[in-house]
Amino acid sequence: MRMIQAKKFEDKKILLLDRQPKTSNDRTWCYWETENGFFDEIVYKKWDMLSFFGGNFSCVMQIAPYQYKMIRGIDFYNYSFKEISNHTNIEVVVAEIGKCQREKNIATVFLNGQEHSLGNPVIFNSIYKPADNESGSIQLLQHFKGWVIESDKSVFEPHKATMMDFRMPQDYGTTFVYVLPFNERTALVEYTLFTKELLPAKKYDEAIRSYIETFLDIGNYKIKEEEFGVIPMTNRRFSFTGEAWNIGTAGGQTKASSGYTFQFIQKQSQQIVDCLLSGKSLDTIPRTPARFRFYDNTLLDILYRNTIPGKSIFTRLFKKNKPQQVLRFLDNESSYIEELKIISSLPTWPFLKAALRQL
Ligand SMILES: Cc1cc2nc3c(=O)[nH]c(=O)nc-3n(C[C@H](O)[C@H](O)[C@H](O)COP(=O)(O)OP(=O)(O)OC[C@H]3O[C@@H](n4cnc5c(N)ncnc54)[C@H](O)[C@@H]3O)c2cc1C
Repeated sequence: MRMIQAKKFEDKKILLLDRQPKTSNDRTWCYWETENGFFDEIVYKKWDMLSFFGGNFSCVMQIAPYQYKMIRGIDFYNYSFKEISNHTNIEVVVAEIGKCQREKNIATVFLNGQEHSLGNPVIFNSIYKPADNESGSIQLLQHFKGWVIESDKSVFEPHKATMMDFRMPQDYGTTFVYVLPFNERTALVEYTLFTKELLPAKKYDEAIRSYIETFLDIGNYKIKEEEFGVIPMTNRRFSFTGEAWNIGTAGGQTKASSGYTFQFIQKQSQQIVDCLLSGKSLDTIPRTPARFRFYDNTLLDILYRNTIPGKSIFTRLFKKNKPQQVLRFLDNESSYIEELKIISSLPTWPFLKAALRQL
């Protein structure tokens, strides 16, 4: 979409390969930003206020100048493919990609088992491959199930979303719920865990039902839609270069300690297009600064070992810091001074030990 907008790639042939036609609402993306973003036209809902519920602490946060935004997967796919269909230089092919290899200027790609050769292409890859068990890296899973529910009563406050509600049993590890109201009667309620293993399917449903009954006093409700997802959280080093340029989660754009990815992908996509336009090598695109990888890996180490419950860490983060500072930190956009303040709000010894392990 950014290449289309740049209007400088019309003379290039672009082939977009995916094994799925992307016709279902398979995910919901949330992120925050201070200005109008590249995909603002399809933002389904925005919130200026966020609630947080932790251990013995809760708050409602005004996040201006930030807005918390939500895009539905299906709107993103429809919008993008409609725009793509107006450009005859872009071909979309639904096919299973197998091996991809390069020799000199020729790339060979296996599509649905058949070999195809491409002359001197620039290839971007977003197929994520989990690390093998021997890699020694930390592998945590962020997994979640969400229901879009519609209540008989007008119960939700549409201008206020719940970012994290930790008032759930923490039996499996870090566990919280977020609630994104679309209007007074409809909301997405998502049960989220950071653990090593997935739960049996019925456990997610039981937990969402219990949360709704215990904390959302909404009377009768209908389940309109469901979503399930898994995001890898790992301290593994992802390479941008290889047989292809690795982008998205496959290129390390998922933040190891939070799972947020969408905005990092947006930033990386813009950098790639800028680089292609200026004729510079894609290798010159700066990687995630080492200090942010170090913070992420330290926090991930603690979450993985459950040295301090995630509930306590996030409670301290939101209790002792301004929400804008936390959001900037989570976006890898904080200053050294802000980072020092955030780090000093967390328990020193466990973090120091985890930091030493990650060093
Ligand atoms: C349900 C869900 C909700 C999420 N919510 C948020 C959120 O709120 N905020 C946030 O920041 N991040 C979120 N994420 C994380 C992240 O933003 C998304 O996973 C995002 O889609 C990652 O983009 P990507 O391009 O790296 O991978 P994907 O969007 O997964 O794209 C990879 C594509 O590769 C295709 N593919 C895979 N293997 C093959 C193959 N062998 N041959 C051909 N095609 C193949 C797949 O069909 C897929 O379309 C969420 C993830 C999920 C799963």
